[in-house]
Amino acid sequence: MTQHRQLMNYIGGQWTHSRAAEYLPVRNPATDELLAHVPLSPADEVDTAVQAAQAAFDGWRRTPPTERIQYLFKFKQLLEEHSEEIAHLTTQECGKTLAEAQGELLRGIENVEVATGIPSLMMGYNLEDIASGIDEHMFRQPVGVVAAITPFNFPGMIPLWFLPYAIACGNCFILKPSEKVPLTMARVFELIDQLGLPTGVVSLVNGGKEAVDALLDHSLVRAISFVGSSPVAKYVYSRAAANGKRAQCQGGAKNTVIVLPDADMEMTTRIVADSSFGCAGQRCLATSVAITVGEARTEFRERLTDAAVQRKVGSGLDSEVEMGPVITPESKQRIESLIAKGAREGAELLVDGRNTQVKGYERGYFVRPTLLDNLAPQSELARTEIFGPVLSLIHVQDIDAAIELINASPFGNMACLFTSSGAAARKFRYEVRVGNIGINVGVAAPMAFFPFTGWKDSFFGDMHAQGRDAIEFYTEKKVVVERWPCEWSRKF
Ligand code: NAD
Repeated sequence: MTQHRQLMNYIGGQWTHSRAAEYLPVRNPATDELLAHVPLSPADEVDTAVQAAQAAFDGWRRTPPTERIQYLFKFKQLLEEHSEEIAHLTTQECGKTLAEAQGELLRGIENVEVATGIPSLMMGYNLEDIASGIDEHMFRQPVGVVAAITPFNFPGMIPLWFLPYAIACGNCFILKPSEKVPLTMARVFELIDQLGLPTGVVSLVNGGKEAVDALLDHSLVRAISFVGSSPVAKYVYSRAAANGKRAQCQGGAKNTVIVLPDADMEMTTRIVADSSFGCAGQRCLATSVAITVGEARTEFRERLTDAAVQRKVGSGLDSEVEMGPVITPESKQRIESLIAKGAREGAELLVDGRNTQVKGYERGYFVRPTLLDNLAPQSELARTEIFGPVLSLIHVQDIDAAIELINASPFGNMACLFTSSGAAARKFRYEVRVGNIGINVGVAAPMAFFPFTGWKDSFFGDMHAQGRDAIEFYTEKKVVVERWPCEWSRKF
């Protein structure tokens, strides 16, 4: 891959140079090295992609599903053949470790696998004789041109929450990836170019707000998928809905785990440390708050302190390293000022990851694992998404108090419970108002055949990403009531 190259868009089956007035630098967060420049594509380039998609739509929807999925089988094969190279690019531009980058690509490929089941998944249903000699059928048809706007933290996986289902259902698809991490999808689209898909079925338009707004306002775009921060998710949802589009918009999070005194402490602390500090805390399912109940407090705090101090931080390409940098210098600054705010609000800094440097990577954007104790539940920090390797501890006397704190949060992406009590687990999963639940699991990421079910300010919409929800989102239902009068039917 040539460095410092200007990234191109992939529109109508062609790689095209953008006429953008502005290009942004793409940097390696571990080294600050310049990797490429990404165009902030103007609205008319979005229009070109939409027109190409619309032109392809009629032919693509008439292509039998059994033929459409053949492209996905080939796509899966190419992704697997190139997985190391793609993961390497993800680590370079996003900072996570190579193992984390490989893991996320695997989770993305699982969505390609599920979408190859579309001939079954897309089936409708029917009933004969809803009245004498009359039958009723429900068919699913694709919605048309659809688009996805994705965030920086999973450059390989999140676009694949949408693309495979969208095209398998017969839609034409446009991706607007995060301008912070455009290299992974640039490479994946080089593989897509080898699939031989009809021109215009998939397009890639790089850019920022102007490109997003152009998608939200375009009359030919019928559905919008979004993943990113809650304020932008809400904005995208409102604007898409006001323009008559269906929208599924996944937002931010403030994920909490509860640790009961009967939990297996060795396992719990290992899992929570991975959930909080893995991917440098830049997972929408990262644990940000741990509530210990009663006697769980002392041992959990001691073990987490050790785990935070011992975690090996550095370049994600170094196989020894367990945690990479955060995405930008601005992000590092924001995380460090939130840590300071937590301390000002009365929390005790057990482990302070600020103002750190990694030997050999002095220009990298590193924040080390940070542990804040006794965070006041009403403090601003307890309600703010940090999106960095920072875990705050809160201590309460019973599980009811802990569940109440979770239910008071404006977010509802994930909550987990660590316990050996089935009764406590059932109470937790029944009462907690959050969409993705983990029981003795620290990152409760649904498999591709289940929906990714954020609630409250973590999701705006009805149909979630992945699984059967994806089929609902990417299809219109059509009901046919049918009578065929004939001599034979009149006999009855
Ligand atoms: P972001 O909201 O800054 O950006 C997401 C996308 O929106 C990008 O493609 C960006 O170009 C675009 N965008 C940004 N500002 C915009 C604006 N004003 N108008 C129109 N478009 C705009 O998010 P990010 O920093 O890339 O990603 C991190 C966030 O994503 C975190 O809040 C994290 O919790 C969330 N996230 C959520 C999930 C989930 O499943 N709920 C998954 C991953 C990440």
